[in-house]
Amino acid sequence: MSPVAYKIALLPGDGIGPEVLEAAVTVLDAVSKHFRIGLRYERHDAGAELYRRTGESISPRTMEAIESAHAVLFGAAGLPDVRKPDGTEITPQIDIRERFGLFASLRPCRLFPGVPTRVKAEAVNMLVIRETTEGLFAGRHDPIELSDESVSDRLTITRATSERLFALAFEQARSRRQSEGTPGHVTLLDKSNVLRSNAFMRKVFDEVAQRYPDVTSDHLYIDAASMMLVTEPERFDVVVTENVFGDITSEIAAGVVGGLGIAPSGDISLEHGVFQPSHGTAPSIAGQNKANPVATILSAAMLLDWLSYRHSDKECRNAAAAIRSAVEAVLREGPRTPDIGGTSSTGEVTSAIVHSLEATVSSEA
Ligand code: ATP
Repeated sequence: MSPVAYKIALLPGDGIGPEVLEAAVTVLDAVSKHFRIGLRYERHDAGAELYRRTGESISPRTMEAIESAHAVLFGAAGLPDVRKPDGTEITPQIDIRERFGLFASLRPCRLFPGVPTRVKAEAVNMLVIRETTEGLFAGRHDPIELSDESVSDRLTITRATSERLFALAFEQARSRRQSEGTPGHVTLLDKSNVLRSNAFMRKVFDEVAQRYPDVTSDHLYIDAASMMLVTEPERFDVVVTENVFGDITSEIAAGVVGGLGIAPSGDISLEHGVFQPSHGTAPSIAGQNKANPVATILSAAMLLDWLSYRHSDKECRNAAAAIRSAVEAVLREGPRTPDIGGTSSTGEVTSAIVHSLEATVSSEA
């Protein structure tokens, strides 16, 4: 058993969030038993249903629980018909990012054999890193006069956050090269031909790039890059960008490799990690046992990688690798959920992943 029992805060949220979260917990339970990793779960409410009941989408107590947890696994939060007085949706995941300074969202997008894609590509393996505390979300709390004539949002780029973000991007390119054989290349996406904030962001990027002579880099304008993500997805390794550009490009990249149902993510700072699928609450399929659990299961694998990195725990790294190969086997051979061309349920796919995991682990024992 690992020397500590890791405390994992579970936030199921709304829509399909609870279903996909429970699927990931089932897989975590199976893997923790085999690899003797201690996991202690604490479940907390957050999201639109909580807001409807109480007027807040995440409570101070839940924030404290996140603070003291080793890591967080989040389902999804928000419902289109639950809105704040200014017309926006509730976003506890953004509140968490801001409160804990989770400046980077890591969104790996890999094309798995067996998953249908409409794009001509064979070997897509990219990591989109979205900045998550500033950029075009920087002015979220600016006091404004609501008007029917004109409303503005602020885009701010700071040197401190950019330096940390780009250093992380270069480190990730290095470690992916070592573990996955990717080229070791970072691409910045920006609009530096028009926006002064983005010209500054590019300048800081080039400064940080100088510190990593073994990693190559380039920049692309966000508009041209959006097209290239679809027409030449294989050219990308690590992609790093501003908050809203990253929000959009990570979904384009997810679409290229088969959709949101298989796209995991991790929002991290140097101390905290919150892992969740890239998708939202998909209310139209909630409660029907149809949601693809793979994105959340792969997010749970990222959570284990994070624990391994933070606590130098090799068992967590091995457990994460075991989850990924079980997911790969099931995506290749089925069963699959309808969003990626199958007819199976959330529960059937989850059981298949657990069986594949158990078969592999016991044959290696
Ligand atoms: P948000 O604004 O909260 O990020 P979104 O606009 O990205 O949400 P989602 O809730 O992610 O929207 O879902 C968009 C569509 O993608 C859904 O209607 C659903 O068809 C599909 N989808 C998303 N996640 C899954 C999943 N896990 N399994 C199957 N289909 C999914």
